[in-house]
Amino acid sequence: MKLLSILGATGSIGTSALEIVRMHPDRFQVKALTAANNLPLLRRQIQQFMPEMVAVLDEAKARELGDMLPPGVRPEILSGASGYAAAAAWDKVDTVVLAMVGAAGLNPALAAIEAGKDIALANKETLVMAGDIVMAKAREKNVTVLPVDSEHSAMFQCMLGNQARDVKQLFLTASGGPFRNTPQSDFPGITREDALNHPNWSMGNKISIDSATLMNKGLELIEAVHLFGISHQNIQVLIHPQSIVHSMVGFADGSVMAQMGVPDMKQAISFALSFPDRLDTGLSFPDFAALASLTFCAPDSERFPSLAFAREACEKKGTLPAVMNAANEVAVQAFLDRRIRFSDIFTLVSTTMAAHTCIDNPDLSGIIEADRWAREKAGSLI
Ligand code: NAD
Ligand code: MG
Repeated sequence: MKLLSILGATGSIGTSALEIVRMHPDRFQVKALTAANNLPLLRRQIQQFMPEMVAVLDEAKARELGDMLPPGVRPEILSGASGYAAAAAWDKVDTVVLAMVGAAGLNPALAAIEAGKDIALANKETLVMAGDIVMAKAREKNVTVLPVDSEHSAMFQCMLGNQARDVKQLFLTASGGPFRNTPQSDFPGITREDALNHPNWSMGNKISIDSATLMNKGLELIEAVHLFGISHQNIQVLIHPQSIVHSMVGFADGSVMAQMGVPDMKQAISFALSFPDRLDTGLSFPDFAALASLTFCAPDSERFPSLAFAREACEKKGTLPAVMNAANEVAVQAFLDRRIRFSDIFTLVSTTMAAHTCIDNPDLSGIIEADRWAREKAGSLI
């Protein structure tokens, strides 16, 4: 029986993780849930899974939640970043699902690792910001970090049964997002609704916009560098519009292994939770005959410069990845709030990165300061 803390329970990954728990009550018990918003959903989740601890980011909302719960349902309700960290580090929990969005994931991720919990990691921003620190801490504490991101889960699955030293190349696949075939001249007219309408995956708002700009693939490139200890130069990004091949690994002998499945996060989430076992998720196999072809091509760096930003961040390292991530978070939120245009996201990120004086080998406070600086800089550009 795995005792779970799910951080970001009301989101797209959080709800899918709870669906796996619901299907396998003999294997998982939910001990703690956290969320920043959607209290009605959180209330239903609490009633269904009966966690003993709940954390809500905002203090007033935490009180509101307490009033919403029926008599007899009385979890301990915490609030704020400290509440999230407590839910991540609680002794009654052995596995933490990091499914909150954005830089806010870093603090609870470190709290969970410090407390020796195994990690199912969806929150890629944590590794982008502070991958060296997080992975070093995980090694020190002997903590397993299992990827939930489908591409990284695919790579991890392809590596099983092989030796790390034989891995030569990673092939990171991308759907290409909703604007894969959109001419650049149409970019200024792209609306929030157009950008949220992902062709293959149903996801939270932030990652949907990141998929539309290909910044999601840039973040995933850096995530892969940290998870697998490989240079970004040995990671090739491929546009694969069908999203059936979730990523591939190339080995010393020229062999390439691919992991495939229908585009549904339940596969990767369940594997991170049940590894090395595989659980019944109810998912069907891809209908290969109906698909007829799987295609691959190189990304268009003219229209989508995000991958070049991420490669630059990989080259310069230090505080630059955190700056890229923070500027992107600010830009995406501004686009979602209809304050900037789609193409302004690229400008905001590149201008903020160019203005940054990179600090090598930063400690945690250096990264947090770079994140704060980049938010202020990107905000001033809006
Ligand atoms: P989402 O927006 O659907 O859900 C985010 C969850 O985090 C919600 O429960 C929300 O209440 C909470 N939250 C939001 N802001 C917060 C904050 N500042 N502090 C604490 N909690 C906060 O997001 P999602 O699509 O589920 O994505 C979550 C993470 O997983 C992201 O890092 C994303 O990149 C990654 N991811 C998502 C998918 C996907 O299919 N959705 C796939 C791969 C990776
Ligand atoms: Mg992904």
